[in-house]
Amino acid sequence: MCLQNHCMDAQPSLRFDNTQIAFSYKSDNQLRKASFIFNVVNHPAIARLATWGVKWGLKLGLPIKGIIRATAFQHFCGGETIEKCEGTIQQLDRFQVKTILDYSVEGAKTEAGFDAATEEVLRTVDKAKGNSAIPFCVFKVTGIADAGLLEKVQQNEGLTLEEQQAFGRIRKRVDKICNKAYDYQVPVLIDAEDRWYQRVIDDMAYEMMKKYNVKSPIVFNTFQMYRADMYDNLVKASKLAKSEGYFLGVKMVRGAYMEIERKRAEEKGYADPIQPTKEASDESFNKGLNFCIENIQHTSLMCGSHNEHSNLLLTELMGKNNLSKQDKRVWFAQLLGMSDTISFNLAKAGYNVAKYVPYGPVEAVMPYLFRRAEENTSVEGQSSRELILIRKELKRRSAAR
Ligand SMILES: Cc1cc2nc3c(=O)[nH]c(=O)nc-3n(C[C@H](O)[C@H](O)[C@H](O)COP(=O)(O)OP(=O)(O)OC[C@H]3O[C@@H](n4cnc5c(N)ncnc54)[C@H](O)[C@@H]3O)c2cc1C
Repeated sequence: MCLQNHCMDAQPSLRFDNTQIAFSYKSDNQLRKASFIFNVVNHPAIARLATWGVKWGLKLGLPIKGIIRATAFQHFCGGETIEKCEGTIQQLDRFQVKTILDYSVEGAKTEAGFDAATEEVLRTVDKAKGNSAIPFCVFKVTGIADAGLLEKVQQNEGLTLEEQQAFGRIRKRVDKICNKAYDYQVPVLIDAEDRWYQRVIDDMAYEMMKKYNVKSPIVFNTFQMYRADMYDNLVKASKLAKSEGYFLGVKMVRGAYMEIERKRAEEKGYADPIQPTKEASDESFNKGLNFCIENIQHTSLMCGSHNEHSNLLLTELMGKNNLSKQDKRVWFAQLLGMSDTISFNLAKAGYNVAKYVPYGPVEAVMPYLFRRAEENTSVEGQSSRELILIRKELKRRSAAR
């Protein structure tokens, strides 16, 4: 089977161009608002100006929160608190698209801040307990830990007594979340971050899997397939899980920090850790999907991607390996407000689909929103795929009237 993205031999019947299914959960008004947002971020100059204006507006305390809340925040986030996400959770669930509550507050720097973030993640586990609309929870280790300290640990630098204690507290926080997830039988995803402390996150993730994944996959680690070493890491992680007798939980993504990784490698004078080309990242990702499905007896897979080909390929791999669409070991996931054509068409076809639903106070989720803006800004003057699809649906609705 060809695992490259341009290959045309992977042609299952499922299609992702049905905008009527994709946007059925959005009213005309919501769709027009989405069109406005993607129109703004689509133009690099306007996007830069808007981002700059919002950053300064918030710094100067200008009353712009209401505008953000009614536009980008409403499109990409579920609400400011778990309770305020209820409408989004219900709305998605009506279309069999499930929710992963993602507490997206970044930048807590104090022990009290890390403890508070841990408590918030624990509240998401409470919310998910026995709730079929919320099949997973998620956390980012740097939400509950100091990234600088993680880096020191990875570098094998000697830690002061105080740092050793702080690292002990990080490990306890991770265990507290995974333990509750285990008690409540809510699988938990651990996000992947920067490579210069990712090994510490990986080590904690495998320790947690060994502890909590013996009967079923509860803890999932994230594999960034844009990293040149990641396919081999996946194979090693799989062998380790087999030899130690636990299920391997895999969330597979391409990776979100390519520019930072490359910049740092250049500055520090080590080899670029990222695949040399987009095609190489695609191939590694698709090979990874194939590997997980071939080893599905002791693996659970969440494919976190907005790439149509990879999502289609996974449906095809499932078919070839006689896995039912509802097989609990295979999930598809996208971010709220993006790639609805993939999420809703997959869900309609009967696959297991979930959306990351970020939430938190407006000003605290701004870094997340800025990243979404950057991601959707056109580099070559064409409209982003999101914008094309939204326009197509608006046109379809107006013709149908
Ligand atoms: C549910 C979900 C969870 C996620 N969790 C995480 C996470 O925990 N950690 C994380 O890092 N990211 C995470 N991401 C983001 C993800 O890593 C990607 O950045 C994003 O999804 C875009 O990749 P894609 O597969 O959707 O599709 P595509 O648009 O096909 O791929 C874009 C990606 O390809 C890679 N790429 C682009 N150009 C090149 C190049 N020149 N050379 C090499 N590679 C290239 C980059 O990874 C880029 O992000 C998550 C995404 C989703 C949907």
